[in-house]
Amino acid sequence: MHYKLLEINLSTKKNHIIKLPQEIIKDYIGGRGLGAKLLLEVLAPGVDPLSPENVMFWLTGPLTGSLAPGLTKHVVITKSPTSGGYVDSYSSGGIGYNLVYAGYNGLMVKGRSDEPVYIYINDDKIEIRSAVHVWGKGAYKAAQILTNEIKEEGFGHAVIGQAGENKVYFACINNDFYRQAARGGIGAVMGSKNLKAIFVKGSGGVECNNINGFLDFHKKKLKEARKNPAAEGHKRAGTSVTFDLTNASGMLPTHNFRTGCFKKGEGKLDSTGYVLKSKGSLACLGCPVPCGKVLQCETSTRGKFRLEGPEYETASLLGSNLENSSLDLVAEANMICDDLGMDTISAGNILGFIMEANERGLLKSIEYKQIEEVRFDNPEGAMHFLYDIALRKDIGDWAANGVRFLAEKIGNHSIDFAMQTKGLEFPGYDPRRAFGAGLAYAVAPRGACHRRAWPPAMEVCGDVPPYTFKGKGKMIKEEFDERNITHSLVACDFCTFAVPISMQEYMRYLELVTGYKYTELELEEIAQRIETTIRYFNKREGLSRKDDTLPKRVLFEPMPDGPAKGRFITQEGLDKMLDEYYEVRGWDKNGIPTEATLSKYGIKKEGIL
Ligand code: SF4
Repeated sequence: MHYKLLEINLSTKKNHIIKLPQEIIKDYIGGRGLGAKLLLEVLAPGVDPLSPENVMFWLTGPLTGSLAPGLTKHVVITKSPTSGGYVDSYSSGGIGYNLVYAGYNGLMVKGRSDEPVYIYINDDKIEIRSAVHVWGKGAYKAAQILTNEIKEEGFGHAVIGQAGENKVYFACINNDFYRQAARGGIGAVMGSKNLKAIFVKGSGGVECNNINGFLDFHKKKLKEARKNPAAEGHKRAGTSVTFDLTNASGMLPTHNFRTGCFKKGEGKLDSTGYVLKSKGSLACLGCPVPCGKVLQCETSTRGKFRLEGPEYETASLLGSNLENSSLDLVAEANMICDDLGMDTISAGNILGFIMEANERGLLKSIEYKQIEEVRFDNPEGAMHFLYDIALRKDIGDWAANGVRFLAEKIGNHSIDFAMQTKGLEFPGYDPRRAFGAGLAYAVAPRGACHRRAWPPAMEVCGDVPPYTFKGKGKMIKEEFDERNITHSLVACDFCTFAVPISMQEYMRYLELVTGYKYTELELEEIAQRIETTIRYFNKREGLSRKDDTLPKRVLFEPMPDGPAKGRFITQEGLDKMLDEYYEVRGWDKNGIPTEATLSKYGIKKEGIL
């Protein structure tokens, strides 16, 4: 296995290729794992995430571009302005596989340009071009202008909107228009480098160790996928099938996470509502699970329009969480957020928080008309505030630093209902319905995250009791570890359960492409090495047990109705789960990896670059 990293320094305008040692690739695979190791090695301690000293990585895995299902994504890794620690954010789009086809497995961007620029990569032609004329424009428009100027088809692109330029802490990166690497403020880091966009095109391919074996195995997997009901469900209704599940089971964020069911959304925001507006499905390159839904929508401000999405997270945070049952309005808010370049999950949390603060009369002293319009009975009014956030206008400037910062500014114990961990706003699952999900949010390195362990899997759909503490530390470790491998391959989560592809099958693909075969024990060690490397990085940046926490709403406030009625986690319950989790990881009581654990996994070994 080989890994070529293209380094571009925006301050010096120079680039060069770094060939990473085989040993590092074997120990960390690619994607998340490799990014953790690189960030630890390259970044000096205590660097301001929005300073030129921060570093950004666009990384792929060893199967990226091979056409194995779900292997066309990429991950962006950097130090997050949201949490102050490690962040990884994944997306579809053509950046990842085009990098591979151009001969690079990853891209490292350092420094800061004096003027707005974009990076142009076309095989070995690497240029830093002016983006002055698209600075200040929305992500859709900027992407279109640059695409027209390049006059050549086939580029994958990553573009930020005004939110990224203005360093909003939850600014995202748009990929090929409709796919976002959204979480943890990575768009703000890109903006802080005066980097508006990256365009990449490659004309090569992926070296394959056993092409006939690959094709035989791949054909078999595709045939199975076409018959799988989960794949069929995604094709029919996209990720909205999750809305059906969370609403029925009482974990759907509603009214700023006050409750977990949203009756008004039935037939509108769920799979029934999606199918009614569906105009077809879209899939990433070579994927047999076309989860992207194209919807036809209409609103009074925008008229008729089509978009790919909204995905479940958006429908829950910009829908039920705001008491908004109009899929058309959710779609409009989705488009506004994408164009401004903001994470819809965080935006929905912030609007929900302001709505509740308004309901409680906590914002009366703020003389700003726009904020009065952000109310649960007025989703249209809330939409306008999204622009204030992206442009950092008035109180939008506070909101632009995330819900934690906003709550601290507003005071009056509003932090109790600011739904975040480590500054990252909650995704679309209320952990009072699945206590293990609460632990996953608390210990996930980037903050409240649903992608390390998918909350409903074991405690709602599986046979794990949802309202207990014992065993949850071990359960979450195992879930995280499985994802540490698949996310280091940079594989799509949906494909792991909808195709489905098991860990053994991924390893078979890996062996066929690279010739390298991992044992089960090696994979267990790699997963643990990755999580501990990230933890060690976060500890270096000042994060520890004190940050592995949950908002008071989840710890002390009983769910008012629905299947989880009366349930809340308690501080004692969270502490028990944390103790168990740290123990099975080989970390101390404060959540810090012990010297023995660091040495066992070779984490402090330096000098790869
Ligand atoms: S399941 Fe959806 S997101 Fe995943 S690779 Fe397929 S189309 Fe892309």
